[in-house]
Order: sequence, then structure tokens, then C-alpha cells
Amino acid sequence: MNINIEKERKILVLDEVDVVVIGGGPSGLAAAVNAAEEGLTTVIIEKNGFFGGANVGGYSGSIGGLFNSTETGEPVQIVNGFAGRFVDLMESKNGIVRHERFGHTWLSPHDPFIWKETADELIEKSGAKTYFHTSYVDSIVENGEIKGIIIENKDGRSMIKGKLYIDCSGDGDVAHRSGGLSHFGKDGDIQSMTFTFRMTDVDWEKYGDFKLEDIWSKTSEASNTGEYFLPRKHPFIFRAPNKKQAIMNATSIVAKDGRTLYPTKTLDLTEAEFLGRKQVREYERFVQNYIPGFENAYLMDTASQIGIRQSRTIVCDYTLKNEDVVKAKKFDTAIVRSAWPIELHLGENGVKVINLDEDYYEIPFETLIPKNINNLLVAGRCISAEHEALASCRVVAQCFEEGAAAGLAALQIIKDNKTTRTLLVEKLRKKMIEKGSLL
Ligand SMILES: Cc1cc2nc3c(=O)[nH]c(=O)nc-3n(C[C@H](O)[C@H](O)[C@H](O)COP(=O)(O)OP(=O)(O)OC[C@H]3O[C@@H](n4cnc5c(N)ncnc54)[C@H](O)[C@@H]3O)c2cc1C
Repeated sequence: MNINIEKERKILVLDEVDVVVIGGGPSGLAAAVNAAEEGLTTVIIEKNGFFGGANVGGYSGSIGGLFNSTETGEPVQIVNGFAGRFVDLMESKNGIVRHERFGHTWLSPHDPFIWKETADELIEKSGAKTYFHTSYVDSIVENGEIKGIIIENKDGRSMIKGKLYIDCSGDGDVAHRSGGLSHFGKDGDIQSMTFTFRMTDVDWEKYGDFKLEDIWSKTSEASNTGEYFLPRKHPFIFRAPNKKQAIMNATSIVAKDGRTLYPTKTLDLTEAEFLGRKQVREYERFVQNYIPGFENAYLMDTASQIGIRQSRTIVCDYTLKNEDVVKAKKFDTAIVRSAWPIELHLGENGVKVINLDEDYYEIPFETLIPKNINNLLVAGRCISAEHEALASCRVVAQCFEEGAAAGLAALQIIKDNKTTRTLLVEKLRKKMIEKGSLL
């Protein structure tokens, strides 16, 4: 390998603030809004030109994790706080369907533009300073303490300094580059990526009460003709808030040679984007020919980037165990509840679902505190969780609440001179409850 040395140079310190949030997906948005609303000077950086992360850019399409799990009962909201507030705001703009049945629970399909608008409003009102089109590049770390982060954008390279850093990059980039330890799924096995798209001109009346199970048997039928390439036999189709549109969470990206594609490897991501676009056309043709109501429907748009379910999880003071999820474990230091199933996307091996009926588990604050680094919290899909546990806790309502917890934890760190490890979690939980969280 040919290695060159990058020239040493002076860089400008752009901001010195209380809280620096990296990544503007659901967890980052919640972290920044909550910190700024409490009067802390807050900066959020995001490599895209909008908030929403995988929920918008990856167009995962719905907010999951708000409700209980029950095969026959009614929906009961078990998560509120920032997640509930966001959904209420989206609903007031007709941007979300509050509950649509999904297996034994419910999800809330949304409109991606209204998601972005809602996020813009919340951030602007909170006073947090946003840098879009800005990538986190590296950290300056001394004795386990981040002294500043290096960012890169059209203006060049510069630095931002904070007292607390919150890694909401999904991939745990900050924790990883600051000396944190991480895992990749189960011994390197991670869930498959999906390239999501929307179709329009769907005749939902004709679709009637066709169910996901019916779509799955049609997928196998079409596949068996040998005329379609449909590697995922369990596609999900959801009604979008706009009545003619469908959210198509249908593809499954499998490398041509069958190897695992890693979202932290640029060439793997590139291959996934190429493969994803090809599959979109296959699934479009399939639904047009096999699914009632889709005869005249057509591709309206795709996610702006490949959808990533799993990459690094950062090793923290506590790791959420598969057993905690299955046995509905409760914690004194809980920051959010979840009854979302373990929903494992296994490429060509299908989607495995384990329901958590009539109870919920909780996620403790310690899953947000990376080992080896003192002034960093992680939130969202890179928190510390075992492979199957993550397949449940990665959904958006939980990411929102983890972000909110991290943003509000900053209050004690900055105002009461505490650290991520010495702050009083009971006080943090009280603050979250004051802001509407159900704990
Ligand atoms: C296909 C698919 C379908 C899904 N379906 C659902 C669903 O129906 N319901 C549900 O609730 N959840 C669903 N999910 C899961 C959910 O969307 C994600 O787990 C969730 O969005 C994770 O939120 P996050 O904030 O942790 O990270 P992300 O949403 O991944 O956001 C991370 C943000 O950080 C930014 N970023 C990353 N690295 C850098 C960097 N170095 N510098 C600057 N910015 C950076 C990214 O651009 C991104 O905006 C789905 C996921 C996928 C992939």
C-alpha cells in the first residue's frame, strides 16, 4: 500500500460551546433540540442538507416503537416525550398516520418532507446552531477527553470545541475515532441494507384488505417464474399519509458474491447503491403485475441514500442484552421503554420477527456511556446492544428518546459540574418526565 503523510496545518476553531452533536438523524435532532431548549449553547453538524438520517434520507418511512405489542388488543402509546411531541407536530400538519398495524404492534408512516420541515422548525426554535453539509472527520483526544472535533465542509477544515459531545452518527464514528471500542453485529454478521422507495397512483380501495402475508406469497410466486430478481421474499408495503402513495420497504441488498456489505466501507456502500437502484425496478415491475391496486402505480422517488440498519455498536458501561429484551427487563436507570419486536433482516434468508407481547423492556442510560472516553455520549442505533437486542431497539421512537436523554444529561454535566458517569440518573429521569417522557 502506498502511504503519504498529510501536511500539518493550523485550523480555525469555529465555535466553543457547551454541547456538540454529531449527526442529525432522529437521535441527533432530539439531542440538539433538548440541550438547546435548556439554554445550553449547542451545535449540531450533519453531512446531509437536512435532518432525519435513515428515517428520511434512507426513507425508512415510518416511526416505529411508540406503541405496545399485543396480538389482539388496542394500541397503547408507551413512549412519549420528544418522540410523542414530534409525532403530534407531524400529525398537526397531516404528515403522519398515527398507527398502522405492523405484526403485533403499530407504526406511524410519515411524509419525508414534512419530517424535514418539522425538524427545521424545532431546531430553529430551540436556538441550536446547525452546520449542514458538514462531516465529522476526527477528534483531538487527550487522556480520554475529547478536546475538539475536526470537521470538513465547503469552507475547508476547522474545529469545534465542546464540553460534552454526543455521537448520533448512526455508525458511532466519533466514539470509534476517539478511541472507543465497538462491535459489528454478531461476529461481523450484520443486518442487510435496504434501498427504499415510494410509488404513487396506488388504488388503495382495490388493494382492500390485502395483507403483508399475501404480498409475501405473491413475491414467492413471481420469483418462482424465474422472470424477476426478488431476493427479499418478505417485502413491506405501507400506506403513506398521502392517500395515493405507498412506502416500499422491499429490497434487500446482497452482494453479487454473497459476502456481507459493510456500511463503514465506502466501496461496499457504493456497490449497495448500484444494486439497490436495480432492485427498485424489479420490485416496481413485480407489484405492478402481482399486487391489486398497483397496476397503474409507478415509481415516484427513492431514498437519497441506501438504508443502513446496523453497523458499529459502541461498547459502553452497559450492553443491552438479548435476554433483557426477551424477558422485558426494567432498569432503575431507564431512559425509554420499548415493545418493538426483534426484527432481524437477514438478506436472502428473510426477516425474522420475535414479538414482545403484553410487556415492554427498558433501555438504561449506561448503554449511552462509551468506555474509555469521559465527555462523550452515544445515542441512536450505535448504542451498546447485542445483535438481536439492537434489531429491536434501533427504531425511531427509541432513538428520539435516547437523544433526548443525552441532550438533557448535558444539563447536569454543564450546570452541576458532573460527568457522564457521576450525573444523577434519577434527576435526569425526572427532567425527562417533566418533558413528557413515559418512564
Ligand atoms: C430500510 C430501513 C427501514 C427502516 N424502517 C423503520 C421503520 O419503519 N420504523 C422505524 O422506527 N425505524 C425504521 N428503521 C430504523 C431507523 O430508521 C434507524 O435505526 C434510525 O433512523 C437511526 O437513527 P440514528 O439517529 O441513530 O441514526 P441515523 O438515522 O442513521 O442518522 C445518523 C445521521 O448522522 C449523519 N452522519 C453520519 N456520519 C456522519 C459524519 N461523519 N459527519 C456528519 N454527519 C454524519 C448521517 O448523515 C445521518 O443523518 C429502518 C431502517 C432502515 C435502514
